[in-house]
Amino acid sequence: MKVIEAKQDLRQALANVKKDERTIGFVPTMGFLHDGHISLMRRAREENDIVVASIFINPAQFGAGEDLDVYPRDRQGDCEQMINAHVDIAFLPDVETIYPEGFNTVVEVEGQMTQVLCGQSRPTHFKGVTTVVAKLLNLVSPDRAYFGQKDAQQISVVRKMVKDLDFNVQIVDCPIVREPDGLAMSSRNAYLTPEQRGNAPVLFQSLCSAEEMIADGERSAAVIVNAIEKRIHTVENAVIDYISIVNTNTLQELDTIGGSTLIALAVKFGKTRLIDNIRLEI
Ligand code: AMP
Repeated sequence: MKVIEAKQDLRQALANVKKDERTIGFVPTMGFLHDGHISLMRRAREENDIVVASIFINPAQFGAGEDLDVYPRDRQGDCEQMINAHVDIAFLPDVETIYPEGFNTVVEVEGQMTQVLCGQSRPTHFKGVTTVVAKLLNLVSPDRAYFGQKDAQQISVVRKMVKDLDFNVQIVDCPIVREPDGLAMSSRNAYLTPEQRGNAPVLFQSLCSAEEMIADGERSAAVIVNAIEKRIHTVENAVIDYISIVNTNTLQELDTIGGSTLIALAVKFGKTRLIDNIRLEI
């Protein structure tokens, strides 16, 4: 595996790949890798000639007072995991490389899609995501880019950007990888105290109960949201940021559940904000 930090080295390393018309799969991450990230890399490995993964903790997607300064890092452990996943190129730029002095451009998907769900409590988050993803897609020019369903809104927003701006890339979404007790894997799980970690599986449990209610015929979004809320409040110190039922593609709120449905939630345990979701076809 080649570890590359500079943009010109990345371009050089990819020049021959492009000349030979070999396909490139790209997995952007913020590092502190876990099996969720690795599942994306393995999928990219299966479907492409060359796999590029990036690790970049993107300051632009963190709001004031969020966890940018304490976000977990493990460069060496990450590199070992990427080698095991047969990644060809690890791109590890520093902040100056991505945002050199004088950088003054943003890429933003406007409208309700970035204002709902996580956009409500993180109003500048998706602007940071689309700006860095646009830059990384330009640098790597992959045939396919792999994203986790864990960040369902991110996938919808990135797909919209790719469509609106004619990026020549296929966005591939990959299923959520969970701990044995159902908690969605996340680099941020490392922040949880043992007690919070014990309570956190309630998120997935509440989503599973919702799925069962819908399978039994319930179609009122309000009733389902209410049931999820009640279930989450069976554990102590869980503070709900949002529970929303939306159309998977447009992220428009549903009153009556039907079609491509996303049930998404964000809940805080202490300072740690966790997200989870399930997608249903009804
Ligand atoms: P992050 O490092 O949190 O920015 O995540 C990088 C990519 O990995 C994103 O596309 C995430 O959606 C994806 N990802 C994170 N956690 C999981 C998980 N538990 N299962 C599947 N994909 C994940």
